[in-house]
Amino acid sequence: MSYGGLVEAATSSAKQVPRKGVNMSEVVAGDRRQGNVVCDLDGVIYRGSTAIEGAADALRQLESKGFTILFVTNNSTETVEATASKVAEIGGYEASVDQILGSAEAAASILESDKPDTMVVGGRGIVEALSARSIPMTDDPSSARAVVVGLDREFSYTKLDAAAAAIRNGARFIATNTDITFPGAGGIHPGAGAIVAAIEAASGVRPLVAGKPHSAIRTLIKERLKPGPVWVVGDRPETDLAMARAERWHAALVLTGIATSEKDVPKGLEPDVIVESIVNLPERIDPA
Ligand SMILES: [Mg+2]
Repeated sequence: MSYGGLVEAATSSAKQVPRKGVNMSEVVAGDRRQGNVVCDLDGVIYRGSTAIEGAADALRQLESKGFTILFVTNNSTETVEATASKVAEIGGYEASVDQILGSAEAAASILESDKPDTMVVGGRGIVEALSARSIPMTDDPSSARAVVVGLDREFSYTKLDAAAAAIRNGARFIATNTDITFPGAGGIHPGAGAIVAAIEAASGVRPLVAGKPHSAIRTLIKERLKPGPVWVVGDRPETDLAMARAERWHAALVLTGIATSEKDVPKGLEPDVIVESIVNLPERIDPA
């Protein structure tokens, strides 16, 4: 393909005639309105293994308005590939791996430069995020220089004992997130925050938290943002709305997850928009 025509058009006013076959709407695409939707998953796109009705259509409407969608979850149990598959299979939206960011990635990013021997109390999402950054893992409390804690469905007294010993020995204590509960099949279940609290109690040390609303995950989000306004969409005021507040991003609360009414929003975290469901969001927000 020759670029001669475009070069001429750019340098000579006498030749500013569109070439045959050039779609002028593509040529002016740079002027299109753009924005970012930083979208939570659990309680927004699905609840456990049940889709929020109409969520996929709403995401496509937001995209056709000019928004780029980034899914940001505090769930650290799954790999980004597994999360992308879940968004496709349950949510009905074909998400690419680049559109997924989890608190496991945020925790691993904190350790990326030092690459300390790290003990994991959590799921394969953490293990893969550490592996992807060549961070070595260990189960030995005397050699661990960091402990990363997330939701661990095989959590036990033995793991609590080892993690607390490593932290008392001076290992850095990093929590993927401190969500005490999460909505799932059959109701509300204990989250990573419940396990983190046990290790905090046993070690006497407070963790550095990587996920929403904290700075490690905000840094990773900012690396992926496109031009235009940023809208955080979520169901949990303490994580989603607090993150928006910390960065002065816009916030939209959906009532399909943890918060089910305006009354569930603590003072100081009031969102710009409250919608029953993400289905109602495209008519309420615009890119710039
Ligand atoms: Mg949520």
